[in-house]
Amino acid sequence: MNHILSNKNFNIALLGGGQLGKMFLAEARKLDICINVLDPSADAPAQLGANHFQQGDFKDFDTVLKFCSESNAVVIEIETVNVDALEALEKRGVPCFPPSRVLRIIQNKIRQKTFFKEKNISSSSFIIYKNLKSLRHSISNGSQSLPFVWKIGEGGYDGFGVKVIKNEKDTEDLLEGECIAESLVDIEKEIGVVLARDTKGEIRVFPPVEMEFHANANQVEFVICPSDISEEISNKCKDLAISVAESIEVQGLLAVELFISKKGEILVNELAPRPHNSGHLTIEACNVSQFDQLLRCTCKLPLGKIELLTNAAMANLVGEPGYHGSVEFIGLKDALQVHRTTLHLYGKSQTRPFRKMGHVTATGRNIIDARKRAKEFKSLLKIQSRDHK
Ligand code: ADP
Repeated sequence: MNHILSNKNFNIALLGGGQLGKMFLAEARKLDICINVLDPSADAPAQLGANHFQQGDFKDFDTVLKFCSESNAVVIEIETVNVDALEALEKRGVPCFPPSRVLRIIQNKIRQKTFFKEKNISSSSFIIYKNLKSLRHSISNGSQSLPFVWKIGEGGYDGFGVKVIKNEKDTEDLLEGECIAESLVDIEKEIGVVLARDTKGEIRVFPPVEMEFHANANQVEFVICPSDISEEISNKCKDLAISVAESIEVQGLLAVELFISKKGEILVNELAPRPHNSGHLTIEACNVSQFDQLLRCTCKLPLGKIELLTNAAMANLVGEPGYHGSVEFIGLKDALQVHRTTLHLYGKSQTRPFRKMGHVTATGRNIIDARKRAKEFKSLLKIQSRDHK
């Protein structure tokens, strides 16, 4: 029987054309698979390398249905796509990665946390509030203890959907909407586990990585692989991620963000059913990358058995605070001379503070060495603009 790779009409619809899509396309180009990309921005990073690019709204039911109707499979690179359209496509026999049922749970933090509770997946405890009024009421009558972590169910963006609340005044600038109050975890480490699960239910897990957050930006700054945890804890993290993937029956990728608490508990924080920032370094550090695995799932090819080839550290390269406008890279020549580093630029023409413009992956004899190189690269390359300071 002829496989997909010999069928020149086989094509994948990719919803979202950001950097994740761009890196996915790099894999698709290697296997010469046709990918059509939909993104609202005329300047989307994943235009280059796409067989066909359409500017359009992936949140709109009709646009998505029409765009994907001739496709053999659908892949997303962002969670906010129209999930009803994915469900309609599945009914017509078009497989979606992830399935619409999985995306529906993950799109909303309240449904996600409720799912963890129902399936006995260890995660911090939480209370659901219909709106800010009822949350404030519970704080003032003492039934909601302080401090806690507020999270909006849907619509949080750029770090505006999560906040540690220490007193009632802290609730003043929160976004309105259904939300949760989550118990505050005393975090020792934040760990990411990316895995792929194919349509037969086979799972391949990447090594757990450590995510280091930027002090002010509520954003991952460095990712270190492998994470500096014992083999026993590392295996527990992998097992927990596998049990989540099996409970939710994902197809495609699943990134499982975990907390290791100071008391040594391992808790699931949240899920992403797509390529994830914590998996970018798999391009250089492993024999198969997260993008490669996603492509294999989508094309019903066997998943690669994962091997970690080297220690690695990734640093996100973001727009420097204070600069908005046409991007300018300062110090590129010096940065590129840092040994054992690979630069990925996303091709975004406009920068703004903390916008992800690229990343660098450094490898090394050990993780300290790799992290040092990634940090050096990052400190040499400044992402600025001459337009507005
Ligand atoms: P986002 O969708 O913005 O990534 P997350 O739920 O991952 O939101 O939370 C962002 C960060 O906030 C986490 O990486 C962690 O540092 C912190 N955080 C989230 N939940 C908790 C919690 N229950 N206890 C302590 N810190 C938390």
